[in-house]
Order: sequence, then structure tokens, then C-alpha cells
Amino acid sequence: MLPLELKIKSRDIDTLIGAIQSNSINANIETIKRAYETANEAHKNQQRLSGEPFIVHPMEVAIILANLKMDETTIIAALLHDTVEDTPIDINKVKELFGDEVALLVDGVTKISSLKKHTKQKEQAETLRKMLLATIQDPRVIIIKLADKLHNMRTIMFQPENKQKYIAQEVLDIYAPLAGRLGMSQIRSELEDLAFKVLYPDDYQAILEHIKARRTELESYIDTVRNTLLQRLKELNIEAQIQGRIKHHYSIFKKLQQGRTFDDIFDLRAVRVITNEVKDCYGILGIVHTIWTPIPSRFKDYIAVPKSNMYQSLHTTVIGPDGHPLEIQIRTWDMHATAEMGIAAHWMYKEGIKSFTPKYKSITILNNLHEWENEVRDTREFIKELKMDLYEDEIFVFTPKGKIIKLAKGSTPVDFAYLIHTEIGNHCAGAKVNNQLVPLKTELKSGDIIEILTNKKGHPSPSWLKFVKSSNARYKIRNWLRKNAEIEEEHLEKEGKQVSDKNKKEKIANVSIPEKELVKIKSYNNKRKVGITINGTSNVMIKLSQCCQPIPGDNVIGFITRGRGITVHKRNCPSLLRLQNESERFVDIKWEQSESTYPVKLAVEALDRPNLLKDVADEISLTKTNIIKAEASLVAKDQAMLKFVLEVKGINHLNDIIKRLKQIRNVTHVYKLNEKVVLK
Ligand code: MN
Repeated sequence: MLPLELKIKSRDIDTLIGAIQSNSINANIETIKRAYETANEAHKNQQRLSGEPFIVHPMEVAIILANLKMDETTIIAALLHDTVEDTPIDINKVKELFGDEVALLVDGVTKISSLKKHTKQKEQAETLRKMLLATIQDPRVIIIKLADKLHNMRTIMFQPENKQKYIAQEVLDIYAPLAGRLGMSQIRSELEDLAFKVLYPDDYQAILEHIKARRTELESYIDTVRNTLLQRLKELNIEAQIQGRIKHHYSIFKKLQQGRTFDDIFDLRAVRVITNEVKDCYGILGIVHTIWTPIPSRFKDYIAVPKSNMYQSLHTTVIGPDGHPLEIQIRTWDMHATAEMGIAAHWMYKEGIKSFTPKYKSITILNNLHEWENEVRDTREFIKELKMDLYEDEIFVFTPKGKIIKLAKGSTPVDFAYLIHTEIGNHCAGAKVNNQLVPLKTELKSGDIIEILTNKKGHPSPSWLKFVKSSNARYKIRNWLRKNAEIEEEHLEKEGKQVSDKNKKEKIANVSIPEKELVKIKSYNNKRKVGITINGTSNVMIKLSQCCQPIPGDNVIGFITRGRGITVHKRNCPSLLRLQNESERFVDIKWEQSESTYPVKLAVEALDRPNLLKDVADEISLTKTNIIKAEASLVAKDQAMLKFVLEVKGINHLNDIIKRLKQIRNVTHVYKLNEKVVLK
């Protein structure tokens, strides 16, 4: 889509009324005029930076909304949207003059813009939240705000230069993605192009010139396609309009940043076919595929399976005339309205009848917000919570389907992946932020749209531990690394004789151990410090490592740390791999018989039933085990999760407990809490 030409000439109320009429909006013109007069009177002493009377701004915003076919209430609220913030008129006056609904919308828009006291980042997060909050109440608030932003961007050249950059960045970070999430692609594209021009003027100019240089060629190509296709459609009596498409400037820019060249980008030609009925869409698809050879993997049926922002169309790519790949979108006029205007399309009037349906509720982002809202008792508490969150430095990002994900500031795509699902984290192979490939350690920002690329053979790398932010991701990465070292060991053991002991050691920890030094652990206390005997010397400090948490009976090895005594690891602990070049610092370790106990976290999963916890606890006491802590919860309907911290004497003792618990009725899984892998 090409950006609209900038038009700064003032227009008067007749332009607005013309727009209302040409879009067949069912509105009372007298009320519109009254709203205009009220706003005009309120803003009479104010000017825009352009030198024009202020009323030009609310009027242009109202015209944008009329062209989106928004309803009367929205247009009136647009005319009044800056009165409460900037003029003596208060919200009660608006209510008195124009009713509750208009007042609610004006109030919503005012609240979004009233927060300016924070630092840049916090302000953005707060603005985003305010907008999302307003969207829950009435999505029209956000539509007015986006139209407001659009007019301000169209006239941004009147702002001082440093302010221009800041505003433009905010548009790219928050408003444009939000418009995209709400399916308002027309507004999103224009916002992006206007912001892009401010932030990257040279790139913008370069792209403009490339488009100019290719325009004639592209247009004649599209004409060829159009004529060929229209002729066939005519033979079959299918009515359709065929439009050529050029990607908007900012999306070309993003493709260039992804390493594509101008030639690549312009080699791909695109047209859109718009028709009256759904069945014709499929008919046209068939015809397209008989004229040109389709590229099989490129067909997508978004009619049968709409995108989360309600977008519907058929997409196909064929080998078009002259061998150029040709991308074709096929849709009905209704689908076209939704594709261009998104959520706004649902306030459209058809043949004078108000046809608004609450279909907007199907938009994922709104669903999430509704769920989110339901989790807290009232709006005041909700806002309080949001504000509290702000001080904890959190960010909001989106999944490609528009779901909002809350993360700690400093989080990376890996944190995001693990939050979505453990398996996605474990197979995470790459990430796209706002459609651009980024390194996995990239710090995410509020408003980013994150797509995780997975690979069946992909798996966590120890290096991830250096940059992940959340304890959740850290825990799951460690868990995977440890478990997989164990699986590898088991695998080797099964192959038994073929693998010599020496190889096994090398394969697993890749370290050779000096035989002469043998360390015996004599005692243990809860501070995880143990007195040991090493070659006759006693009282060297021993620490059981946190990464693999060995307990008596485990096959272990000691590592001599610098100044902190010896750390005991399981022999298959993946963290030993890092230390493999320092084999001289490893010592053999044997457990000594002792009466010490070790705290072990044990999880018991079961189908819930009466007395479950009691039966499990009873069975544990039968093994003469102390329970330090017990905790029961329902993780899903009928799915109970019991967690215990037990005082365990050693691996045999623990195995005995696990064996007994597994025999209890309804118990499905028993495991040491940090040792379960999720396998499908
Ligand atoms: Mn405004």
C-alpha cells in the first residue's frame, strides 16, 4: 500500500459531514454539528504548532474515523477527545451534553494520554497498559486514540526535531503493533511509514526512489496479470476486482534489514483479487492455479482458519508471467474491510442498518485481556496491580497470535520460549523479534512480537544459562542438561561391553581421574559442609554441588575448587564438561556409612481422591522418614500434585520410599522434584 499524501490544508465541518454521508453512516447531523460547535468553542484560544486553529485536529481525527465507517458516538467523542484534558470542559459537562456513552469514550481517551510523569520506558509501558485497559471497556477508545496518533503523525513536521524522533519511536514500539494486533492494517501501515520517515530519513528516501524507478515496470506487469485473469473470470461469470500491491515502505525496510535485496523484494509481484462471495474465492483460486503453476508450500487458507485478528483470505504463490513469483490474495469485500480496518470494520453500517456485532470479542488480544481482568476483583485493584508491576520492571510482549506475555525486564527469547512451553524452550533454535531474526540473547522490549523457531533436533545449550533472566528458564535448562547427560550414560550402559569404562568416563565427563587420591565423606550437616579425610589430612571443606544435588549412594566425583574446598558432583553432571581441561583437579570420592540425613524434594502426582494426602503421608512414615514439609495442590481438574521435603538417609532409602508410594492407589508418578523431564 502506498502512503497517503500529506495534506495539511484545513478543512471545515462540511468535509466531515461529507465523509459521514459518503460512508453511509447513520448519524444525526445536528448532533455532529453541536459537538463540533462545543469543541470549537472550548478550543477557541488554542492553536496547533502548525499555526492552525486547534479545532482542525479533532476534526481531522473525526474524518479519519468517518472514513473507517465508525458510528456516530465515536465521531462525536473524536470531536471532543481533547476538551477534557486541555479546556475548561469537564467530563460531567460532556455527559450532560452528549450522554454517557460519549462521555465514557472521551474519558477513556483522556486517561490514556494523561500520564506523562515517568521516565521514557516506564511511560511507554504505562501508556500501553492504559490502552489495553481501555480496550477492555470499549474498543472504540483505542480506535479513537489510534486516529488521534495518526493525525499527529501526519503533522509531525511541526514538532521540534528531538521530539519528533521520540514520538516516532513510540509509534513504532506501541501504536503500530497495537493497530496490527487489532487487525487495522491500513492505519498500521501509515503509522509505520510516517514514523519510519522520521527515524530513518535516508533509508526512507532510498526506498522511495527504488519504488519510483520500478513503478512503470511493476504497473505494466500487474496489467498483464489483471487482463489474463479477468478474461478467464469473465468466461466463467465471476465478478472480481484485481488490485496491484506494493508493500509499504517500512515493510520493505524490514525485509532489507533481514538481508534481502531490492531485487529479491521487487522480484516478488503481488496482486489482490476481491470478489463478492466466499465460494467465488475458491473458484478464483482454481482458475489461478490452471493459468499459472502454483508453488505448493505457499498456499494458505485463512478463510477456513482465520488469523487471530480475524483476518481472512486465501494466499497462494504461483510462477507468474516472465517467471516472476506472483503472490495472490483472494478475498470477499467483507474480508477486505476486516483486513484493512480490523476491529473497526465491526462498527460499519450497511444499508442504513446498524450492523455492529460483538464479534470483536473473538480477537485473541481482547480475550486475553478479558481473562486477565477476570483474575482480579475490580478495576481499581487491577490498576493498582499494574502500577505495582511497573516498579518491578516488567515488560509486555506478544506472541505472533497476539497473546500478551508478561516478562521480567531483561528477558530474552529463551525466557519467552520456556514460558510458553517447556518443549518449545527445549527445542528453541532461533527467534524472530518483530519479524526479524535476532540472537537468542537479545533483550526484549515492551510491544515486541516474538516468534520462536523450533527444531526437533535442537536442544538447550549450557551457554543459555549465561543470559536467561527467569529462574523458570534457568531451572528447565539445567534440568534438561542434567537429565540428558543421564540418558546418555544409561544408553552407554545398555551397550555395555562394547564401551570400555575409560571411554565411558571420557564420553560423559571427559575427565580422567587420578587414582591415588581417595576422599571419604565422613559426616554431613545441613549447611552442606562435610569434614573429609584426604590422604590423611582431615577437615577439608566439602560442598555438595547445587547443580546436581548428589545424595549418598549416587556415583560421585570431587572437584577441588580454588579456596573453597571440594565440590561433590554426580559423575554425569553436565557442569563437569566445562571443567574437562582441568582433570588434575578431580578427586575420587566415596560415601562413608553415616547416620546423616539429606533433605530431598519429592513430588507425587496422582488422580485426586479423598484421603490421598493422608495415605501418602502414612506410607512415608512407615519407612521411618521425617517429613520436613508437605504441600498439596490441584494442578488440573482431578490432578493432584503433592510435594514433600523428606529427610532421606541415602539412595537406597529414597528408592524404597519411591517404590512404596508408587503402589498407592491413584498415584501416577513419583520422582525427585528436580529430575522429571517432560516427554511426550
Ligand atoms: Mn488529540
